[in-house]
Amino acid sequence: MGYIELNVLNNDQSPQVMGIDLGTTNSLAATWKDGHPVVIKPEHSNSGSVPSVIHISEDGNVIVGQKALDQATVDPRHTIFSIKRMMGRGLADIQDDLEAFPFPISEDENGLLNIDVHGRQYTPQELSSLILLRVHDLGCRAMGGAEIQRAVITVPAYFDDTQRQATRDSARLAGIDVMRIINEPTAASLAYGLDQSASGNVAVYDLGGGTFDISILSIEDGVFHVLSTNGDTHLGGDDFDRALAKLVLDQLEGKLSSDELADPALQQAARLAAEKCKVKLSEQPEAELHLVLPDSGINVRRNVTREEFEALVSPLVQRTLDCCLQALADANLEVGEVAEVVMVGGSTRMPVVREGVEGFFKRLPHTELNPDEVVAIGAAIQAHILSGGSRDLLLMDVTPLSLGLETVGGAVSKIIARNSTIPCQATEGFTTYADNQTGIDFNILQGERELAQDCRSLGRFKLTGIPPMPAGLARIAVRFHVDADGLLTVTAREESTGVKSSIEVKPKHGLTDSAVEQMLEDSLTNARADFEAGRNAGLVTELGTMIHATEKSLPNVIDQLDPEQLADIREAIDAAREASDAKEKDGKSLQSARDALEQATMPLAAVLMDSVAKAALSGKSLSDV
Ligand code: AMP
Repeated sequence: MGYIELNVLNNDQSPQVMGIDLGTTNSLAATWKDGHPVVIKPEHSNSGSVPSVIHISEDGNVIVGQKALDQATVDPRHTIFSIKRMMGRGLADIQDDLEAFPFPISEDENGLLNIDVHGRQYTPQELSSLILLRVHDLGCRAMGGAEIQRAVITVPAYFDDTQRQATRDSARLAGIDVMRIINEPTAASLAYGLDQSASGNVAVYDLGGGTFDISILSIEDGVFHVLSTNGDTHLGGDDFDRALAKLVLDQLEGKLSSDELADPALQQAARLAAEKCKVKLSEQPEAELHLVLPDSGINVRRNVTREEFEALVSPLVQRTLDCCLQALADANLEVGEVAEVVMVGGSTRMPVVREGVEGFFKRLPHTELNPDEVVAIGAAIQAHILSGGSRDLLLMDVTPLSLGLETVGGAVSKIIARNSTIPCQATEGFTTYADNQTGIDFNILQGERELAQDCRSLGRFKLTGIPPMPAGLARIAVRFHVDADGLLTVTAREESTGVKSSIEVKPKHGLTDSAVEQMLEDSLTNARADFEAGRNAGLVTELGTMIHATEKSLPNVIDQLDPEQLADIREAIDAAREASDAKEKDGKSLQSARDALEQATMPLAAVLMDSVAKAALSGKSLSDV
């Protein structure tokens, strides 16, 4: 492709890329600047964190972030949170959460979740794309209006293929080009530079606001393997707040009626007061828990010592340590075999948590970096490396679960083993089991269990057109390919007769390509406008780079191009300028100008590549060409 080659000669400034931590409660972006990863924060703000919350008003106005969170108590029915819990899931998967969601959720005939807001149905992918749009937009603005199109996005290590695909689709809807999807614990380990150690096991303890994850990773020559994951999707800082809030609510018992006590406004105020007190107790030995609700005339103060708080929450800490024990057992490791422990998530600021983890793993955990930022920082490091930045090693992730096919009788034939380094592929031969069988149903499975019914079905497909022949004669090669983002494509081919058919997995609870296209068409007015503006701006930047690179190289090789090629290039440059300079930017014109320029510069790229090769042979440096 012409453009890429031209860029090789003109890579004096490395492209800006972003790492995005797309969290259940908060999301955050980071990038690489002046040789370091940096969290992107708006001016005059000490946090770049965006609450992963969306409010949609009746007229379709969308707010994302803190302002949307502020609406949670005012207009809970139209304030959507915890979207990450719904990504790539069906109704049956989120039964435990349904009660806590004040908005109706249903499942369509394709197994896709729909969240009803003002009578319009939104998929988790669409909603998640609005969060990505916001984080990405804030990031670009905080970088002085930079146009950053490409990003690494993180997901939990236990996310399966469908959940990863859903995340990727969200990014696509947001107009973000996903360089790679990486595991959150891998990103946290990268932030601490643990990939640089030759080998060893790492425990990543992640306690956020509403979820707890423990991941045991091994690092071998810079390659990360997920040995095991465990956790509790409903355990986090919120539970610590509730335990503390109970102290002050108990004090009101007897003074208020049970209805008054159950009032959501009182409960919410108590939780917020408790959180404030909890955060103070991370810094000081004693803090005041102050519950004030002027409308109800409630004003209660209570002093809480750190000792009292720690006694109250120690069962919660113990629950996380029980998960750690299970994760170690699953990884077949003794505590002493874990070389490093990394702390992630705001709740790991609590001394009682740090001490508990240190006592359990018998080593000091890494807490040097801001626990809210480590994942985004790691994602930015990975993005930097993928965009050609230095940190001289190849970073790879692994498949979190085995992938295979259901065989006759409901058994599972594993084709790609768990923990295979990605990208990877494997092919296995299958045959027919009945005479004159002309089709085979494939059920693609993910999981470690032996029976198909105990694994997660990622999708089904049919291979038809097998010529009739006796059972066992057909030779069907099924190829599983997992790309660098951990996404799976399965293809099947009948070998003995040369009949070919290839099928891509369309995961249940996932979006089809046409559904994504449809959503792009239907996107909310504001989001769509933002999205298009971002995409157009990206194309303008890209065209600028292409024009610059072409004009820079052209004089050196002008006599090696024939007049027609030269005229094509000049014409394409003029058209690209015209599209870029247009007052009203038009996406289609920009895209076709870009494609035309790419096409026209192909002969130029070929000549340049030739010069590069000759220069390399004669010992000249690239910059001399
Ligand atoms: P995260 O989901 O990682 O953003 O973590 C959010 C959780 O961390 C919330 O429950 C916060 O109350 C909690 N948190 C943040 N800072 C502190 C602190 N200094 N001490 C205790 N908990 C904190």
